[in-house]
Amino acid sequence: MKILISDAFDPSLPDKLSKYGEVTDDKGQLADADVVLIRSKTKCTKEYIDSAPKLKMILRGGVGLDNVDREYAKEKGIIVSNTAEASAIAVAELAFALMLSMPNNILPGDASMKQGEWKKKELKRSELYGKTLGLLGVGNIGTEVAKRAKAFGMNVLAYDPYLKSHEYAELVGSLDDIIAKSDFLSLHMPLTDETKGMVNKDLIAKMKDGVYILNTGRGKCVVEEDVAEALKSGKIKGYATDVWYSDPPESTPLTSAPNTVCTPHIGASTKENLLRIGEVIDRLIGEYVKGK
Ligand code: NAD
Repeated sequence: MKILISDAFDPSLPDKLSKYGEVTDDKGQLADADVVLIRSKTKCTKEYIDSAPKLKMILRGGVGLDNVDREYAKEKGIIVSNTAEASAIAVAELAFALMLSMPNNILPGDASMKQGEWKKKELKRSELYGKTLGLLGVGNIGTEVAKRAKAFGMNVLAYDPYLKSHEYAELVGSLDDIIAKSDFLSLHMPLTDETKGMVNKDLIAKMKDGVYILNTGRGKCVVEEDVAEALKSGKIKGYATDVWYSDPPESTPLTSAPNTVCTPHIGASTKENLLRIGEVIDRLIGEYVKGK
């Protein structure tokens, strides 16, 4: 069996997988690969799949499978799997770091100190305690964010039309309802036809004035131009995002809009998570080899 590691994984992974056969990171060997390991960078399009005639498995270290043509893979009998639960803690901790950074003015405080300024009077903070957090999507990651928000004394609501109940969040029946009630909104749904462009100017108009939004889900779930306009007008007080239209973004109004916190899609990139992802991949290939 030939395993092609196409994106960045923990350096311990090749050794861990060598018991199954040859492990390579040489993308030129795609045509001979039985298993391809990807994260978000490699795009498994129809053309990509066609250039790998021996391919039996595509394993996505992480969650979002929007970079894989799953229909076509299925047609070709290729197993596609992610490491669904492994990344939840890593992404939830980043979402929380982003949520804490905005009302605490961490970035403006840091920048002003480094410019020799002392903005003690200007930089007013506000607390998470007692505020309402609206989660859009409350699966593995949203749930970990909900638990942490509860510990901070937040009122946690969630909009997730595919769930009937939730242990940590109060489910709200409509998007308009959760939008109207939330001081913070955090995006944790997948990118689908339904969620693409969901946060647009019409939805933003229904939000509370001065809402904070954080996005560790997918960049295309928001209309960046509309978010940038609402940041300029002050309707949105802060937008923190780890995710973009493309990695890296070709052009985005968000890096020059006021009150943004931007990170380069590092939600899953903790060293602990990369080890967890490696363990799940090892298990999945092991199960495949045993014919499960
Ligand atoms: P998950 O499948 O466990 O949860 C997603 C939830 O969204 C589900 O409960 C689902 O019912 C819900 N949902 C689906 N459509 C919806 C809609 N229209 N409105 C509201 N909710 C909807 O996935 P997860 O592990 O929690 O990951 C969520 C997303 O986070 C992934 O799809 C991926 O796009 C993103 N992600 C980002 C990073 C990062 O590095 N920033 C890392 C991992 C995952």
